[in-house]
Amino acid sequence: MLRDALGEDAVADELAERRLYDHDLAPSLSMLEMTYRSIPDAVVRPRDAKQVSEVLRLANKHRFPVVPRGAATWGLGGAVPATGGVVLDMTSLDRVIDVDVERSTLTVEAGATWQKALAAARKRGLQIGIYPSSFPSATVGGWIGVGGAGIGSLKYGPIWENLAALQVVLPDGSIMESHPGGSHLPLKDFVGAEGIFGVVTAATIKAHPVPEKTLPVAFSFDGLAAAGPFLQRLPAEAGPMHVMFSDRTNFDWLEAAGVHTGVTSALVTVVLEGRTGDVERSAANVTEMAASSGGKAPPPGAGEWVWRERSYEYRFRKLGTQSLPAEAIIPLSDYGPAMEEAYSLIRRFRLNAAMKGSLADGGTFMLMPHFLIDERRPLRTMAAMSFNVSMAGMAARRGGRIAGLGMYLPYLLKKMYADAEIDRMLTLKKRLDPGNILNPGKMLEGRYGSGRRMSPYSTRLVMGITAGLRRLMRPERLPRPADGPGEDDAGGPGV
Ligand SMILES: Cc1cc2nc3c(=O)[nH]c(=O)nc-3n(C[C@H](O)[C@H](O)[C@H](O)COP(=O)(O)OP(=O)(O)OC[C@H]3O[C@@H](n4cnc5c(N)ncnc54)[C@H](O)[C@@H]3O)c2cc1C
Repeated sequence: MLRDALGEDAVADELAERRLYDHDLAPSLSMLEMTYRSIPDAVVRPRDAKQVSEVLRLANKHRFPVVPRGAATWGLGGAVPATGGVVLDMTSLDRVIDVDVERSTLTVEAGATWQKALAAARKRGLQIGIYPSSFPSATVGGWIGVGGAGIGSLKYGPIWENLAALQVVLPDGSIMESHPGGSHLPLKDFVGAEGIFGVVTAATIKAHPVPEKTLPVAFSFDGLAAAGPFLQRLPAEAGPMHVMFSDRTNFDWLEAAGVHTGVTSALVTVVLEGRTGDVERSAANVTEMAASSGGKAPPPGAGEWVWRERSYEYRFRKLGTQSLPAEAIIPLSDYGPAMEEAYSLIRRFRLNAAMKGSLADGGTFMLMPHFLIDERRPLRTMAAMSFNVSMAGMAARRGGRIAGLGMYLPYLLKKMYADAEIDRMLTLKKRLDPGNILNPGKMLEGRYGSGRRMSPYSTRLVMGITAGLRRLMRPERLPRPADGPGEDDAGGPGV
């Protein structure tokens, strides 16, 4: 039926190929297989919006789930089927439709990578303000689906403020154009919707002239806690384009993986852009601010290295283990206590973690601990997932939230959204997708009808039990450089 509608080449149903789509970037959690039916029944690669529409019309008629998928780099299972069905692999919709220099906009299909969009803009003297640090592989539609903060969000604002229009295929198969101020389904409804309200097929992204100079400047601190006062001053006093930080453990792991940086402390990198003279004055000002907060000069070239490497956050994968992200967005005013609590959670869960983060906007920061875990040990992997739950609780208590829910965390819905917003989204979902065919088992599914084998609350129970067991175990044994922190010293020195 799908082949009749879309052609032979657009559909794959061999088991070997379907299996490639039963997980995303995160380690596949074999213990959760009893909860989800993650192997799709078919994979469809549409070539245009009309084919996406056709799949959704068939899905409504024959009642099968449809799961939009970009590059599957998210890690929370948003692009993985929870209840089987069809995975809509969007990566063939990857054309650059238009670069409008006069209006400073760029229109691309949703399966194009951010890298491709950035390159197309740059060719015409334009720069896209914001993009995820996974830009070489993450798709435009995938990041819109996640609605995350990324490189440039500090200066250019959240993703919906950087979009001029979206082409969306609604769950009933109708194709619409959505705009920021539209009274019917405004663009913001589809940003951060985790692919449950519609399939984004194209996006018009706002762009800016390429700045004369972009300069990363870095500073060493005795631990990330010590960098707090400096980070809190930066948005108002320096107006940087991007600010990112990582602890010493991150650099120790890189060293152990054979990547030499020479950095042996926590590092804050501030990225400035604008006219050459302004940037140089701003760099001098930021250097003074850092010095007055205890920041020191790192090894020469450290800032440039970190900036150049901004999309390679997993170089330490060479240590022979998998890594799992957990992201929380927390008020910047709470930086010190939140950082302390995050490290204490890492110790409590006996995880091997390196701390990374960035300033998400002027008032919040994103905390992204990375764990090294051995995927062959499912109990430990599950416990690392349950660490995310504690991080979510910590963020919510402090007036923050986690970065998304995906397939693994929908029971944390109330820790991410206020009740009124949840009610609004439930009403919208029921109106747009009464048959619940688009990405079922995700996001709202803690409260919305489910076709899963186990409820999201059972998933939480499994995670809770494994977390308890995890605390009784030793941390993973990992290669470490000779002078690295001890196995139990997850925080690294000075934190
Ligand atoms: C090294 C690294 C760095 C990262 N940096 C960042 C960062 O800076 N900021 C950040 O927010 N995240 C970051 N991430 C997480 C992730 O890469 C991004 O969120 C990314 O944008 C997801 O894009 P994707 O194409 O891989 O989406 P997928 O993982 O394929 O999908 C993500 C969600 O969007 C939905 N979706 C996919 N395509 C569409 C579509 N066309 N229409 C509607 N819904 C759709 C899916 O159903 C799913 O729920 C990072 C990940 C890695 C590995």
